[in-house]
Amino acid sequence: MVERLSMTEYRIPERILAAIAAHRQACDDPMAAFFYDLPALEAHGRAMKAALPAGVELYYAIKANSEAAIIDTLAPIVDGLELSSGGEIARACAASTPRPWVLSGPGKLDADMRDAMRRGVEAFHVESLGEVARLQAIAASLGRVQPVLLRINPALPEELTSRLRMAGTATPFGIDEAQLADAVRSVDEAPNLRLVGFHVHAMSHQACERRHQRLLASYLERWPRWRALARHPERVTQLNVGGGIGVNYLHPPGRRPSSQQSSAQFDWPALCDALGWQLEAMSEPPRVRFEIGRFLSAFCGYYAIEVLDTKVSHGEGFLVCRGGTHQFRLPAAQGHDHPVIHLPGDPERAREGERRPWTVVGQLCTPKDVLSRRQSLTGVAVGDLLVLPLAGAYGYNISHADFLCHPRPEQVFVDDSRERAPWGCAEAVR
Ligand SMILES: *Cc1c(COP(=O)(O)O)cnc(C)c1O
Repeated sequence: MVERLSMTEYRIPERILAAIAAHRQACDDPMAAFFYDLPALEAHGRAMKAALPAGVELYYAIKANSEAAIIDTLAPIVDGLELSSGGEIARACAASTPRPWVLSGPGKLDADMRDAMRRGVEAFHVESLGEVARLQAIAASLGRVQPVLLRINPALPEELTSRLRMAGTATPFGIDEAQLADAVRSVDEAPNLRLVGFHVHAMSHQACERRHQRLLASYLERWPRWRALARHPERVTQLNVGGGIGVNYLHPPGRRPSSQQSSAQFDWPALCDALGWQLEAMSEPPRVRFEIGRFLSAFCGYYAIEVLDTKVSHGEGFLVCRGGTHQFRLPAAQGHDHPVIHLPGDPERAREGERRPWTVVGQLCTPKDVLSRRQSLTGVAVGDLLVLPLAGAYGYNISHADFLCHPRPEQVFVDDSRERAPWGCAEAVR
């Protein structure tokens, strides 16, 4: 279990190397493309699901990566999908395996809420009192009683928050915990809505399972009080604890975690075990549900780019590559230096050439187009490929792909049935 989850060595799988080689052969111009390892995605999803405590559910938050092949790979494994727009509803409903789905997010359109009800949404995560009123009107017009969860923005102790806060501070998300009693009353008074639970998605990039466990514990501690606000507490059974499990993007390629670190990546099984004990100790535990995006899909993606030019300017070495942050905005968005794996055209040169730090940039006419700084690489030359792993979540889909009118990169979804190409990659797999 833990073995399967620790995809931290950045050993590029053979099938991905083969797909990169095949793609490159088919390209007239230097390449930039995304490759997704679907068998690895499936194995990772299954391992995450298998680690859950009894009765706890796993939903996939598709905004992390809503490509059809990704949804089709995960849908049979997870318990359902979390969606936040009309476009995501269309993608989820086109999936080959229909799964239950919920609609959440701020600024929901009436048209999307109505469409969601018609297409059989399981529940809405309601973000405000205004949304309660709009949802009631739509449910009444369609003659149905709609289950809802209220999204809470709880007060959180400072030590439990993370880099990207969705709660515990002033944000547009959810209902201030201080106004929760009013919100519960307004749902109770809405004849076509039924309160079934509460939802908290408080953060992103959580790196530490112990901190996340304390965060979940703080929700569970408040759960009886939240529930007691309802006119029918016995109907309020669900606690959706959101996503936000972080990915360690800085763990250097090709290296196993050091002995001091228990794991280079978030210890999901440890979180699940602790949650299981906690729920067992409760007299009336809620049905807990995770809705994970990043930690499900990040590990399966690779962004492969070709070196177009090399130069040293004012003492700093630059590798100018096909593509850039308009295709893979993630490192720029998060302000990190993405790990880079070098696939040399000539393994001999790569062993014996000069080793020096390189700043990896793209084709955009802006100094912000930096994918990674100070990557120590040996014998890099024009025509070599660089591969940026951990590109499966919030990669291409958050990028400003039309900037400078470059063509969009291809996305290649790799499964086991692909043939291996004759690529001299043994040297490159570190
Ligand atoms: C984005 C989002 C998620 C998924 O977050 P990750 O950090 O990708 O796990 C889950 N729930 C809500 C409400 C979100 O907005």
